[in-house]
Amino acid sequence: MSGGATDAARVAERLAMVRESIARACARAGRSVDEVTLVAVSKRHPAEAVRAAYAAGQRVFGENYVQELVEKAAALADLEDLRWHFIGHLQRNKARQVAEVGAVVETVDSPRLARELGRRASAPLDVLAQVNVAGEAQKSGCAPEELPALLEAIASEPQLRLRGLMTIPPFDDDPERTRPHFARLRALADAHGLPARSMGMSADLEVAIEEGATIVRVGTAIFGPRPG
Ligand SMILES: *Cc1c(COP(=O)(O)O)cnc(C)c1O
Repeated sequence: MSGGATDAARVAERLAMVRESIARACARAGRSVDEVTLVAVSKRHPAEAVRAAYAAGQRVFGENYVQELVEKAAALADLEDLRWHFIGHLQRNKARQVAEVGAVVETVDSPRLARELGRRASAPLDVLAQVNVAGEAQKSGCAPEELPALLEAIASEPQLRLRGLMTIPPFDDDPERTRPHFARLRALADAHGLPARSMGMSADLEVAIEEGATIVRVGTAIFGPRPG
């Protein structure tokens, strides 16, 4: 683990820069920074990177892969107020493992997954419905037309607490071209009276906040490039 201390210092520095960027966007949008939760996406980075961010005050972390989430949650179980968000594609046969960690599941994308999660959760579980706002063929998330049925399926599971919507828009070098997708998610959430809107990553978090993000998921800007 050579360079551990330097790495920790860099994580703290980058985290401070991300917080400043969130504050700038909130100021421009006339919003309070308290309205925006930063999820530090630690996928493919070691548990030590999570510890470094935690030491710098970060409490909410995001993972994409069930196995990695379970392993990190176990390795970091001593950090009691650390909270996890699951932000990857979730297969139904892994729903139980994610529920056991107590992670907020941001990526509920089908009624079948909602039913499975509801059955497997032994305690109330916060969830977001993932919407494919751009209607891309190869992306996960339900189509906007399917959203009412998905929300109904979530609402009929007593253990699931529907918090809001999440989206991963098509990547574009110019965040301005992503703005309409964020606006679309905002409009859908408003139409269904849902308070949480998870949108925006390293490259476009400021635009996402201007368009009403309440959760931003940021990996590279905090932890640097993901190892191999
Ligand atoms: C990896 C990932 C992120 C973080 O992406 P960065 O560009 O590294 O900030 C956010 N959301 C999801 C769903 C991801 O898979």
